[in-house]
Amino acid sequence: MRTPDTFDAGIIGAGPAGIAAAVQLARHGVRAVVFERGPTGGLLRTAWRVENFPGFPGGISGPALAALLDEQFLASGAELVHEEVSSLDREEEFLAVRTVGGDVRCNAVIVASGTRPRDVTDPDIPPEARDRVFREVDELRGVRGAHVAVIGGGDAAFDYAMSLSEENDVTVLVRGSSTRCLPILATRVRSRKRVTVRMLTRITTVAKGTGGRLRLASVSGGGDGESTSADIDADYLVLAVGREPDDGFVSEKLRRDALALERRGELLFAGDVVNGIFRQASIAAGQGTHAAMKVAAMLRERVGAGVAREETRVAGSREESR
Ligand code: NAP
Repeated sequence: MRTPDTFDAGIIGAGPAGIAAAVQLARHGVRAVVFERGPTGGLLRTAWRVENFPGFPGGISGPALAALLDEQFLASGAELVHEEVSSLDREEEFLAVRTVGGDVRCNAVIVASGTRPRDVTDPDIPPEARDRVFREVDELRGVRGAHVAVIGGGDAAFDYAMSLSEENDVTVLVRGSSTRCLPILATRVRSRKRVTVRMLTRITTVAKGTGGRLRLASVSGGGDGESTSADIDADYLVLAVGREPDDGFVSEKLRRDALALERRGELLFAGDVVNGIFRQASIAAGQGTHAAMKVAAMLRERVGAGVAREETRVAGSREESR
């Protein structure tokens, strides 16, 4: 529960960017509130393996890294509000973060809200099949002995194939003649016995077949060659066909003023929400730290006395907890 309704800093999202920002703000003695509608860790929790986060020479699984970030986040003392942000707008000299629980006013806000699955109409998913179609792989955690079809040819599809094939048979359906994923990931996937990769394969329709399984009508080949049609039966379908920024809550006015607000250190964007196809936990964490340092510098200049008081308070509470 949030006690005051005014904070020095608000952070929207508790993935790697938001957590890094919270940890850094705590180091500056800035009192921060973090809004997160789901579990902390963001998409990192779904990554099969993270191999470029400095400090883990042999790589680390996404869930294990997320657990470590979570531990550091808890130690930061930032206040966590488990509510979805519906709007972010200006309110007098503050930025107001609105959730079902009311408005929280902040001197500065770091938007680290990540991405959401891009809407796709190709293939169209009929309502009766939607309970077996997923956009994120952690929704299938615990599924064993099933056949899972994954549509997509990027890092997400191939990363999902690695984790799903530990306990299931997986078919990756790539519509083009080449993949977009890292070559090393494609090589690993192809060496997995339980994974089949079908290139130049498009799913045209999805239907519920016998026993509630999915029946995917596919067309393979094309281009200069012959094309063939076939049905693929699968227990589940994962659409790994790209993502888009999850920032629909930011008001039009703030979007228009975004550059000026960023320069002043009042509104900063960090992590996947601004990274397009460069979505990596290591990049997001650095951006979160950077954003937090800009916010802290702004607060030092503008409300120096208030921050100094908080510094004393936070230091005091750390002493008490030792
Ligand atoms: P992406 O690289 O944009 O790949 C999207 C894939 O979906 C493409 O192969 C695309 O095909 C296909 N696609 C799009 N619409 C489709 C449709 N209607 N039907 C069939 N296929 C469709 O997206 P991503 O895989 O989400 O990865 C983006 C970034 O996320 C990466 O660059 C990486 O930074 C990050 N990421 C990294 C990891 C990791 O490092 N392990 C894991 C996940 C994500 P076309 O190529 O034909 O357009």
